[in-house]
Amino acid sequence: MRPELPLVERWFSAEQIEDGLTLLWEPHIAGFFVSNAWHVRGRDRDLLVDTANGIGDLRGEITPFADGRQILAVATHEHFDHMGGLHAFDERLCHPADAAGVRDPYAVASFPEDWPPGLAEEIRAYGYEPPGRLLAAVPSRTFDEASWRTPPAEPTSLLEEGDVLDLGDRAFEILHVPGHTAGSIALWEASSGTLFTGDAFYVDDAMMFEDLEAGVASLRRMRDLPVRLVLGGHGPVVDGDRFRAAIDAELAARGA
Ligand SMILES: [Zn+2]
Ligand SMILES: [Zn+2]
Repeated sequence: MRPELPLVERWFSAEQIEDGLTLLWEPHIAGFFVSNAWHVRGRDRDLLVDTANGIGDLRGEITPFADGRQILAVATHEHFDHMGGLHAFDERLCHPADAAGVRDPYAVASFPEDWPPGLAEEIRAYGYEPPGRLLAAVPSRTFDEASWRTPPAEPTSLLEEGDVLDLGDRAFEILHVPGHTAGSIALWEASSGTLFTGDAFYVDDAMMFEDLEAGVASLRRMRDLPVRLVLGGHGPVVDGDRFRAAIDAELAARGA
């Protein structure tokens, strides 16, 4: 028998990073799976960069922040820990090269025996020991842990290099930064020096690239931006100096 999990009132934790920018994450799951979801308040519409694993009710969590405004929900790439909550939003955006992976994701489950083949090896490749159970709690009494899988999502629009997401008083440009996946994107606001990287950049873990050459080129491209604030798919907020130092260390380690 598996022990019954506790019910938690609030699935997500939230921390305001600066005015109009909030980080949300899931504290009740195994550490490897914890990812960052970023809410940006706009004058006319809001932006949500990544949507966590799709276990708890992210839309319900975001609704008070959005105060009735439209929410543009973006998946920086096709991985389950970033697109899992996308299905719940009306505007579902990703790059065309990762659209198939958003429609038909690598579907994770709570118990390792239900995981897709190769996931445990992938977790070890990141330097983590695979957990015996994804969940440490449940988000509601009706949540069925045994049957839960990463929910697929049908994109409503596709984001290409150079597209701009206009929030009214803020605007984010789409940068195609392939390497981690073919359709990885970053979101860049030059006026504030704000960069959302998804998994195209990690600060505390070795970076992972499906296509190393493309990933290195993407790192070089992002390094040249006048970045002030970097908001990644995992890990802490970093400033421009730490961002550039981490990229330099990564490039040096790979002999690039
Ligand atoms: Zn990823
Ligand atoms: Zn990730």
